[in-house]
Amino acid sequence: MTTELEVENAALLHFLYACPAGLVEFSAAGAIGMVNPAAMGLLMPIAGRPFVVNLFDIMDGCAPELRNMIHEFTPAHGTICDGHRIVTGRGERSTVLACSVVKLTPERYIATLADVTEQVARERRLKQAETWFASLLDGVDDVAALSLDADGRIDTVTPSVTRQTGFMEAELLGRSFESFDRPDPASAMPPRGEAIAVARRDGWHLHEGWHARADGGRYWCQRLVAVRDHLDGAMAGYTLVMRAVTRQGHDAAALRRMLTRDHLTGVSNRAHFFEVAERHRVRSLQDGGPLALIVLDVDHFKRVNDEHGHAAGDAVLREVARRCEAELRPEDVFARLGGEEFVALMPGTPLLAAAAIAERLRTSLARELIDAGGIQLRITASFGCSALDTDPTASLADLLAAADGALYQAKRTGRDRVASSGAAQAA
Ligand code: GH3
Ligand code: MG
Ligand code: MG
Repeated sequence: MTTELEVENAALLHFLYACPAGLVEFSAAGAIGMVNPAAMGLLMPIAGRPFVVNLFDIMDGCAPELRNMIHEFTPAHGTICDGHRIVTGRGERSTVLACSVVKLTPERYIATLADVTEQVARERRLKQAETWFASLLDGVDDVAALSLDADGRIDTVTPSVTRQTGFMEAELLGRSFESFDRPDPASAMPPRGEAIAVARRDGWHLHEGWHARADGGRYWCQRLVAVRDHLDGAMAGYTLVMRAVTRQGHDAAALRRMLTRDHLTGVSNRAHFFEVAERHRVRSLQDGGPLALIVLDVDHFKRVNDEHGHAAGDAVLREVARRCEAELRPEDVFARLGGEEFVALMPGTPLLAAAAIAERLRTSLARELIDAGGIQLRITASFGCSALDTDPTASLADLLAAADGALYQAKRTGRDRVASSGAAQAA
């Protein structure tokens, strides 16, 4: 006879299995007990193999902080993180996961995982749009509008378009607006059809890049595709607004800043860091030059937020970034990896020199109190260094993982200190 408890358990298992959110049950050491199909689908690409054994091992490359967060959570049970964002992969294939972890007992944890890539991309596009509309209002630029049919082909042209592009109406009608794209390697255009597909879904799509001019030249064009009112429920077509950026130096710089900088601290953002760092790594690999990384994480930063508020936390992050950048050379790349974690990439620098620089950064933070909106705080950070000299064939992910490993060693051995990975650690 099946007991009530067994029935309940079976129902619970059935729910977990069918649940659209990713669920993983694991031990304090990260050993995965239960994983439902949704979580399996998210973890397998990160693990790079068709089975998942240990959550920490899988996450080490993209979210090494997870292990730390879980180990440092001392209460017997409770929520360890809620919607913690994890970026996996890079570039077009990068995925953003929102991860929440609950400690059930000292030996049992449950993590939920959800793919929020789409949502994050939308948030970013909304930010772009705000900037775009704001800059439209200053009104001095050349703005042209035309209309597209439901397939994205030009069906009405206004004189402003001829003025902007030099093309006559007859040369434009019936052609896809994308046939005027003139991309170069540094400013890729979205794949054909993407603008229309996104506009159909979200109501609009914004992009900027080189556009053809009738005289054979090109100009930098900011382009908005917006859905025109529906007629009797059917899509009537789109309005295309093109803005020729005449003050290109200024606008391109502002836009570039927006895309490559971290909004809070103004240092490089994560995406930009990976792009630049990979170029440096390849160059070092080719010419055999040294290259080092320092990863740093502010110590007990959560307390700053908890005790003095988020605004104070933000002020601390800005000042940490400012002090670190001031210690580095112009050719070094300093970026915010996320939260209160930063990274410095130093071309031409071997591991021992990197450790000395990290020590300089450490003192520049610890030496003087930081003013966080009127409150003076003593802020320290822990540092981990890695470099190509100890592992010349290391990938960027390897270098980061090595620096992260050293960083967590610095945390474990008391914080406010520098640790290095690899051979020179012994030296
Ligand atoms: P540890 O010394 O082990 O690094 O401890 P910690 O408290 O610094 O680390 P933990 O990872 O527990 O906390 C990091 C906190 O940083 C949690 C998160 O709310 C906060 N945080 C992340 N991003 C921001 C931000 O942009 N602004 C502010 N004010 N806080 C942030
Ligand atoms: Mg920290
Ligand atoms: Mg951290």
